[in-house]
Amino acid sequence: MRHAASPSLDRALSVAHRLFDDLHAIGFDGRGMTRPSYGRRETAAHDLIEATARAHGLEVRRDWAANLLVTYPGRDRYLPAVMTGSHLDTVPCGGNFDGAAGVLAGLAVLLAWQMEGCRPLRDTTLIVIRAEESAWFPLSYVGSRAAFGLLGPQDMQTPRIDNGKSLAEHIRDAGGDPDVFAEPSRHLDPGSIDSFVELHIEQGPILIDREIPVAIVGGICGSFRFRRARIIGRGAHSGATPRGFRADAAVAASRLVIALDELWARYDADGQEMTVTVGVLRTPDDAHFSAVAAQVDLAIDVRAHDPALLDAAEREIRALAASIAETSGVTIDLGERTGSIPAIMDPTLLSMAELAASESSVDPWVMRSGAGHDAAVFAGRSVPTLMLFVRNQNGSHNPDEAMELTDFDEGVLVLERLLRRRADRSAVTEA
Ligand SMILES: [Zn+2]
Repeated sequence: MRHAASPSLDRALSVAHRLFDDLHAIGFDGRGMTRPSYGRRETAAHDLIEATARAHGLEVRRDWAANLLVTYPGRDRYLPAVMTGSHLDTVPCGGNFDGAAGVLAGLAVLLAWQMEGCRPLRDTTLIVIRAEESAWFPLSYVGSRAAFGLLGPQDMQTPRIDNGKSLAEHIRDAGGDPDVFAEPSRHLDPGSIDSFVELHIEQGPILIDREIPVAIVGGICGSFRFRRARIIGRGAHSGATPRGFRADAAVAASRLVIALDELWARYDADGQEMTVTVGVLRTPDDAHFSAVAAQVDLAIDVRAHDPALLDAAEREIRALAASIAETSGVTIDLGERTGSIPAIMDPTLLSMAELAASESSVDPWVMRSGAGHDAAVFAGRSVPTLMLFVRNQNGSHNPDEAMELTDFDEGVLVLERLLRRRADRSAVTEA
């Protein structure tokens, strides 16, 4: 059910609904959406948003990394701006709502204001962010980190997984200017941003389960990953090698996986919010049914909201690996550790969002995000940050993502009220 949208917001929402279809046409690969980071289709999606924004008289610019910024000017252009936004790239064969929902929600708000002719105090800027999905470049939050000047020379040379071309080349092909990646004058200044709010589909089953269309996100998980852990045992004939002579990588891997699950169960029983996932577990292609496994590759992903919990879990996992290696007679190399720190959402924005939700007849329910988002980068730069989640069926990163447009509309209602309140916040109350 829709609640009390103004006629201009209604019109802006119909524009957004049509844009979902246009984005689908751009990204459809025959089964799902494939809009690779800095690929032709991601650029076409950015062009579509830019053309729509221009047609409605909004200000448009692109930064050095080809992120798109669409601004609705406020009355005092010197005040820090309110920002919203998300990404338009997808994982291979993903869905049409991950990322796109937040971009179109922000655009709908700016279009509605433009149609209505309202003029909040501050500038409000939609940022359409490049390369959020680390499926293409093995780096997190490329576009938003680029916007703040957080990419190093090594990041710029990172090859895209499918075509081997560097990030710098991709940025140039998309119309950006990779040579200026380290020039502060080309970066977003956190001091010029009043706040950042990202609307996103929920990528887990919680809102469906609770029958809640929109939720406020009170925190984003941090993580650590061992993406390329490797267990090295000793290959041997399966019939001719007695127990005592084996160094079986498959058995060691199984012990490690069970031990990780038991570790998680223990934290879980303790009421500690955490996830532990082994998403990759494989013997090499030339492994054979009649040979003891000489090698197993696996990936371990651990997420939690509490940095101390992440540290404790990492210490335990390293100790577990060492002890299983010892008892199984194998070598366990956890490999490079990558990760991100948990993001704290801004308490003032959170209470403003609760108010905005109540005014939109949406139950102001607060949850946490187990998935990472660009909002974490803004929070990491000390920009007051918040997220809104919209209910979505069938999970995410697959072609079956299903967000009801009526739920999207409810999310936009809350976002509009929140951004408007924030954009009208005077400089005096800022202190
Ligand atoms: Zn996303």
